[in-house]
Amino acid sequence: MANVNREALMADKKRVVVKIGSSSLQHKETGDLDYTKLDVLVRELCNLKNRGMDVVLVTSGAIAVGQKAILPQRAKEEDNPIAVKQACAAVGQARLMMIYQKIFAEYNQEAAQILMTKNTIVDNLNRYNARNTFEELFKLGVIPIVNENDTIATYEIEIGDNDTLSAIVASLVEADSLILLSDIDGLYTDDPRTNPNAEYIEVVTELTDELMEMGKGSTGSSVGTGGMMTKMQAAKIACSTGVDMVIANSKDIKVIHRILSGQNIGTLFLSHKDEKFDLPLYVQQMHAH
Ligand code: GLU
Repeated sequence: MANVNREALMADKKRVVVKIGSSSLQHKETGDLDYTKLDVLVRELCNLKNRGMDVVLVTSGAIAVGQKAILPQRAKEEDNPIAVKQACAAVGQARLMMIYQKIFAEYNQEAAQILMTKNTIVDNLNRYNARNTFEELFKLGVIPIVNENDTIATYEIEIGDNDTLSAIVASLVEADSLILLSDIDGLYTDDPRTNPNAEYIEVVTELTDELMEMGKGSTGSSVGTGGMMTKMQAAKIACSTGVDMVIANSKDIKVIHRILSGQNIGTLFLSHKDEKFDLPLYVQQMHAH
């Protein structure tokens, strides 16, 4: 295994994208939002900003929060047809932002909303506009909060999961680091929930075919869309475009600053920029899961 000096690697980081999934934001027992976690998340991000970093949050939760609000009797996303999910996302996204805005305001931090689809990247004008908006927000000291535009994204134009979305965003804004907070400690040689011999992988220096295969077949949690497969796809996009990526467990949100101060937490995917990697083309050819 490669010996990487994480402290040195992280010391230069200036622009970070942090992704948090629906299951990390909810109480397992009820599916309601975990305000303590949200509060710690926002505080961590504001503190990175205060350290002088540019920060982006990619958050899920629109559909889950909307379902809670307007379909309390129907808890499971699977039971609902697309139009119902999209209606839930329309309600939930606004609620989610209201909560984020409120907590960010407690730290005197401006936050903005950016909702994206595949077209934001594939269409040249849209991509150019989106990049300019991010840049301007960074200049103005604002933290952009990103989600997929679930209300209008149909199969043809959806990215489909926020792991992939966060890597796309990191690549678009030329971030130097991406942190995926998930319900798993990092990458294992197999699913540790079913195979007790699965080994934890500390650092990935090369995304071999074997590793990409390992991600397949793994499913995500019941509420989010992402599993290990989407995380490997995110790693592919991030690493190919010069973004170092870490997958870590969201059970303690404070890992964010620990990771960025170089502590050995989560699986680190070291970037290896591929000048031939074409983000718009890759996104165009990508299939949602
Ligand atoms: N965009 C979806 C939402 O906010 C979640 C996608 C995902 O979990 O990866 O509800």
